[in-house]
Amino acid sequence: MNHPSPVGLALAATPPSPAFCPARRATSAQRGAPARGGPTWGVCLLLLLIVLAPLLLGGCHLARPRTFVPRKGDEIIVAGRMFHTGTRVVTWMDPGGYDAYRVERRFAPIAESSWESTAAAVKALRTPNRYGQRKNGLSDAEIERVRGGGWDLPTLQRVVDQFVLHYDVCGISKSCFNVLHDHRGLSIHFMLDIDGTIYQTLDLKERAWHATTSNDRSVGIEIANMGAYPPADTKPLQDWYRPGADGQPVITVPERLGDPMLHTPDFVGRPARPAPVTGDIQNTTLVQYDLTPQQYAALIKLTAALCKVFPQISCDYPRDSTGELVPRKLPDDDLARFKGVLGHYHIQTNKTDPGPALQWPKIINGARRLLGLPALPSARKS
Ligand SMILES: [Zn+2]
Repeated sequence: MNHPSPVGLALAATPPSPAFCPARRATSAQRGAPARGGPTWGVCLLLLLIVLAPLLLGGCHLARPRTFVPRKGDEIIVAGRMFHTGTRVVTWMDPGGYDAYRVERRFAPIAESSWESTAAAVKALRTPNRYGQRKNGLSDAEIERVRGGGWDLPTLQRVVDQFVLHYDVCGISKSCFNVLHDHRGLSIHFMLDIDGTIYQTLDLKERAWHATTSNDRSVGIEIANMGAYPPADTKPLQDWYRPGADGQPVITVPERLGDPMLHTPDFVGRPARPAPVTGDIQNTTLVQYDLTPQQYAALIKLTAALCKVFPQISCDYPRDSTGELVPRKLPDDDLARFKGVLGHYHIQTNKTDPGPALQWPKIINGARRLLGLPALPSARKS
């Protein structure tokens, strides 16, 4: 991760040496040179003030006006600061982004999209803002300081210790934002589309509404995926995963959803494993197609970035004494203690996302490799 270097500030804060002032004059005088015509104390003081003025005004480290600040397009925003991830991120400020700060409905006809019209039309939306303020672990004075802004990175690092993975049951991020923002009054920090594009909809300082009891302490991501179903009820999977020319499943976005607004033109999405995956979540057997390879690649990099930015998020997931994934809600005490990457189903008994197909060792060990950490023991065996 590229943390902003303090070197620039440190250099800029070093006062320039007044080498032309009395010290040099004294040296000249010692060499026997005539002192006449040299600067007076008053002139020296004036010049010194001119040189130090930017420092005294606190603006010496600011760039010149209209200086262009380049971005690589892989940055996430954390308490107003940018961190590289090494994978494509479209923030709420970028063209094609999704802005969870806006109170209008994103996909309603614009004449009906205002908050007033929305409140009348959609009863589930009770407040203009679909997110709140983190307050856990903060003193009253700190809450006053950060309300309406004012977060600093160390304070945020102190209160964030979980990264929650969801699947969206919408199939594509455009539909996910539509459901969350326009219809349910919910929010999520990140969405991961089928082409591997990550959308950030809110600064991570915000308390997104996505995981009930973990909202205060977590960052959340909705992975575009149609979700998991009982073996006897997999029609949505049959609709979305159609055989391609080679007979292998291809993600087929239904026409009723219109332009899928994928960032990658003409993207063809395929699950990382062609056969649907069957497994037990919350002691219920479910069937799900895997994520796309592009989603895994992006999620690995984002996970590594978050574990680096937030030292309390351990690059690990809920595992039992044998090192295997715990595929159900954690007991309350375990959940309270857990600091790391987890699924929505680890938090709530009524949730099954991110489903049985998600390859936890692939994500976590991929991220650990980027962080220079050893692979987890259970994954080494497999
Ligand atoms: Zn969820």
